[in-house]
Amino acid sequence: MQADALGKKYPRGWALQECSLEIPAGRVVALVGPNGAGKTTLMGMIAGLVRPTTGRIEVFGDTPNGHGMPASVSYLTQQKPLYPQFTVIETLRFGKNTNARWDQAYAEHLVAQANVPLSAKVSTLSGGQRTRVALAVALGKRPRLLMLDEPLADLDPLAREVVLQTLVTECRNQGITVLLSSHVLAELEGVCDHLVLLSAGRVRLTGGVPELLQGHIVLVGPPQAPCPARPESIIDTQTVNGAQIVHAVAHPVRPQHGWQVHQPRLGQLALAYMRSGGSTEVAA
Ligand code: ATP
Repeated sequence: MQADALGKKYPRGWALQECSLEIPAGRVVALVGPNGAGKTTLMGMIAGLVRPTTGRIEVFGDTPNGHGMPASVSYLTQQKPLYPQFTVIETLRFGKNTNARWDQAYAEHLVAQANVPLSAKVSTLSGGQRTRVALAVALGKRPRLLMLDEPLADLDPLAREVVLQTLVTECRNQGITVLLSSHVLAELEGVCDHLVLLSAGRVRLTGGVPELLQGHIVLVGPPQAPCPARPESIIDTQTVNGAQIVHAVAHPVRPQHGWQVHQPRLGQLALAYMRSGGSTEVAA
């Protein structure tokens, strides 16, 4: 997936501007950013449901233009549109009738794995069960790109972990590219190998997770002490439990009494960029 100077303007203003990024095939990508950052808008444009105002987008050779979803893409929105009056098996049959690449045996396997009865009506399922059926439909399409917009929001923490792990294992085994938006940054750690961070409609940070982590440092020191990091490298400074915590772009730091230098965690780094909200754009 490649976007060049992609933008979307609504009557109220720009939802996304000058968005240029590349997502290598087969990656599991975290799409993060504060409310209103433009995540759903970006997914809508990739899915061919929202027409770009500016720029260009390419998805496995297709150029989505707002007129419908390419067969290579499966998109599960926050609303998880399932017909409540259908049974689970009727839901899968509908998937079969409406998708050329549909894999019925695989979709049934995913439903069975989640212990959801095929004969149950969708309206009688719990939120978690509905999510599993919606995922089975999304994966049954045998997509090359699976996009999930806050898919786990209605699951308890245990179910979130199980569903996320199952999903990522399935997608990695089949080489499916996954674009996953979530506000729960901690749960994306160890799951995602690529990050796209949007803020105020612009790409603030994007790249492979190992490269991004190596490209940044966290300095922890006394609250009032001057930070040994170069001022222009500093992304964000916080005081937590009486310690000063500074996120910065990696560079050699002269050892200074009372200061320790670590590698950041993904969630911490993403939050630092979201807090800073400025205009530094970093790609790795
Ligand atoms: P959230 O985390 O709250 O779901 P988001 O990052 O997905 O937010 P978007 O839903 O893409 O953000 O919205 C980006 C901006 O575009 C917001 O200011 C929103 O109000 C605006 N917007 C989105 N869709 C429309 C629309 N159909 N018409 C007008 N404005 C819209």
